[in-house]
Amino acid sequence: MGSMKNARLFTARYLLPMVAEPIEDGALLVEGGRIAAFGARRELQSASSGAELVDFGEAILLPPFANAHTHLELTNFRVWSERAGETSPPESFVDWILRLVHIKRGLAPAELAASLQAGIVQSLQAGTGAVGDILSRHESYGAYRGSPLRGRVYLEILGRTPEIFRPRFQRALDLAARQPAQHLTAGLSPHSTYSLTSAFLEEVYAVACDRGFPVSTHLAESQEEVLLVSEGRGAFAEKLFPAAGWKIPSATRSSPVVYLAERGGLIPSNLLVHGVHVDPEGIERIARSRATVVLCPRSNARLGVGKAPIQRYLRAGVPLALGTDSMASSDSLSIWDEIAFARRYFPGELSPRDLLNMATFAGAHALGMGGEMGFLTRGAGAHFQVLTPAALPTRFELEEFLCTSGRTEEISALFLDGRDVLQRA
Ligand SMILES: [Zn+2]
Repeated sequence: MGSMKNARLFTARYLLPMVAEPIEDGALLVEGGRIAAFGARRELQSASSGAELVDFGEAILLPPFANAHTHLELTNFRVWSERAGETSPPESFVDWILRLVHIKRGLAPAELAASLQAGIVQSLQAGTGAVGDILSRHESYGAYRGSPLRGRVYLEILGRTPEIFRPRFQRALDLAARQPAQHLTAGLSPHSTYSLTSAFLEEVYAVACDRGFPVSTHLAESQEEVLLVSEGRGAFAEKLFPAAGWKIPSATRSSPVVYLAERGGLIPSNLLVHGVHVDPEGIERIARSRATVVLCPRSNARLGVGKAPIQRYLRAGVPLALGTDSMASSDSLSIWDEIAFARRYFPGELSPRDLLNMATFAGAHALGMGGEMGFLTRGAGAHFQVLTPAALPTRFELEEFLCTSGRTEEISALFLDGRDVLQRA
């Protein structure tokens, strides 16, 4: 490789390229913010003399994580709940939604923007390089500016009456005309199968396809949603719709997946969030659509909505990613914590390799960053995180070790485009 001016060689005891087996005593050669080579330290070091050496020592170097579903604007939710005196666990999923709506309604724009910015910092500190973030309060759109995060900001759209839906949709389209930050792309999030009418859902997907906006939709999160969509009854019809002043829709006899497909929403660019209550037919349809399902196991467990049929998804070849969801239903914005939880929550169903794949290249690919982030390979961006645990496992225990709790606190660096962006607390 000859003279290597301005090149840097990052070395660590372990390197996880994700495109290849972990490498002991590994090295990553970076030039101009891109990965020029990776491999064994011994070989790369002699081939790249002149490159500045950055040795992380007894550490693990791996791609940053993609948190494919989150609501960063809700990061300070715990503080707000305490202030509102609403800290007891909600009695049902509907009660949780109503509480969320109630608490959000009382917040000033500046509080939401500050909360969103706290979420960006916490994400970076957790080794997250890309997000699939949902923004419901559109006035906070400017709060992403200057953030080094990659990925997408999906502007949330909901409403079952034209008075609510029209202005929100128009505002979202106006905002989405420009990117929220240098590395973040704008998308649209028609919230769910139940919070927009059939006609509004169809309109949003049609416009998104027409203008090339990526989309993300909460899908089949709860049994309540299944009951409402297919039979026009259940807790949503009894409690949520009257509280929102919405007219209860008639039964469709369709599952949420089929209903979404008929609205034009089962498309590869739609990031389907939760996918807990999906029957075998729905799984087949998702697999054929090439859409990605984002699993949020901690949120699902906290809200008691059920467990996603993960084995069926894997067998059908459905692309899967991981999300933390928001701080309104999760304890942290760390994908490390999500992985550790999922490993215990789906015993024997998800291997450490499955989980790490979901968190790295599968998530990055779902956020439109395939080939750029999520693995350490020649030509990709120099995006990586470094973990420095008190004691390192053996090579054979490495992946299992990465799926146990306590990893978030061990993050010592996060590099995006070859630049350390970690904002230490
Ligand atoms: Zn969500």
